[in-house]
Amino acid sequence: MSAGTAATAAYIVAALLTVMSLAGLSRHETARAGVAYGIAGMAVALVATVVLAAESLTAGAIALLAVAMVVGGGIGLWRARVVEMTGMPELIALLHSFVGLAAVLVGWNGYLEVEAEGAAQTTVAPELVGIHSVEVGIGVFIGAVTFTGSLVAYGKLSGRMKSRPLTLPGKNALNLGALVAFAALTVAFTVTPSLGLMIAITAVALALGWHLVASIGGGDMPVVVSMLNSYSGWAAAASGFLLDNTLLIVTGALVGSSGAYLSYVMCQAMNRSFLSVIAGGFGVESGTASSGTEEGEHREVDADAVAEMLAEASSVVIVPGYGMAVAQAQYPVADLTRRLVERGIEVRFGIHPVAGRLPGHMNVLLAEAKVPYDVVLEMDEINDDLASTSVVLVIGANDTVNPAAMEDPGSPIAGMPVLRVWEAKNVVVFKRSMAVGYAGVQNPLFFRANTSMIFGDAKARVEDILKAL
Ligand code: NDP
Repeated sequence: MSAGTAATAAYIVAALLTVMSLAGLSRHETARAGVAYGIAGMAVALVATVVLAAESLTAGAIALLAVAMVVGGGIGLWRARVVEMTGMPELIALLHSFVGLAAVLVGWNGYLEVEAEGAAQTTVAPELVGIHSVEVGIGVFIGAVTFTGSLVAYGKLSGRMKSRPLTLPGKNALNLGALVAFAALTVAFTVTPSLGLMIAITAVALALGWHLVASIGGGDMPVVVSMLNSYSGWAAAASGFLLDNTLLIVTGALVGSSGAYLSYVMCQAMNRSFLSVIAGGFGVESGTASSGTEEGEHREVDADAVAEMLAEASSVVIVPGYGMAVAQAQYPVADLTRRLVERGIEVRFGIHPVAGRLPGHMNVLLAEAKVPYDVVLEMDEINDDLASTSVVLVIGANDTVNPAAMEDPGSPIAGMPVLRVWEAKNVVVFKRSMAVGYAGVQNPLFFRANTSMIFGDAKARVEDILKAL
């Protein structure tokens, strides 16, 4: 068997491992195995690609490849080891931007090799140059949109850019205009390829990616992140067509379609229109500025008072949010759960689909602290039980428990389903100040008669309550 045939067989194995990885990642219990399949698939693909490349590369080129892999792999390992759980979403956004940039570079390389040099100098048959040009145009377009879109997402998630939506006048017309310009430029490029048209396609796509994500408001960022995940998959698939690499096409399409499905599911959970989000907030009224003003008096309590309230409760629901991740409060929260259960109190968790900063963020933290899966319920499973709950502990959650989403049609988070914690007998909110959440909207929950605020770092406050119990 030639090295080429062996590598092609290895590609099929790698593609199957990728499918098994996605299947494994869809459930808590099998997620670890899913990650292992993914790593194995990547390793097989990498080795096969190097073997395939070695057939046609010089020793110098292979040495360069090895250096790039060692340096890139080293940086990847280092970043993955030091990243905090709260920094994961921005790291993922940054990694998506690399996939986009790689697709742009592959597209440019394809152009420089074929259209700029003339088909006679390459392996592309002259009658296929038109198809090649379309592949170059689409690959560069998807890659460049993914690149700048992911950089903006990185900026918004890491706090380097404001999470509020950018509302340029005529933003929908701008997006539509960019799409029409791309189509026209690609047609022109296919008829007569030129450097000027290549630059124009790249520039339009870079601007569109930036504008699409900048136009999306804080509350809709989770959908944007999974949408960019999908785009990065399509960008990889487009590169696969240009490089004639089946594995890249298959795995890119798998990532692209699973990311698109995740975005769709998240849009449904958040009562958002899928089309509106992928079109950069199309149809969302501009000028619905978020409000950061406080609206009344809030009541402050200390750890002893909360411990007393809990001791008298018959049922407790814990609603964690991003602040629990920041404080790393999941361990004392798990201890508190065990302590309350020992006293015969029913304790359950209510998880909002976009709590934290990445899908499943809270589930991962609670699993890490060994909270049993069966008491961790989804928003829809717990919402109707909240009215009969004695105490709800809101631990570092804000937007996901904001009644304005249901009561204020002008709010940037209007229409987003939330956990109706205010229906419980007592609500205790753990946070450090009266500051707003990720979407930048003040939360009327904090001023309700049955709400008490306990200020400070969530981990320290939960530990104080444990001592007082
Ligand atoms: P929010 O981001 O709305 O609020 C978190 C709250 O935690 C803040 O109000 C903050 O208040 C508090 N907090 C921060 N640090 C601490 C600490 N050490 N101790 C105690 N409290 C702390 O959280 P939610 O989880 O409710 O909502 C998630 C938001 O993030 C949504 O808007 C969602 O759309 C968005 N998002 C979600 C993504 C996802 O995939 N899940 C991805 C991107 C965005 P204070 O500063 O006063 O302490």
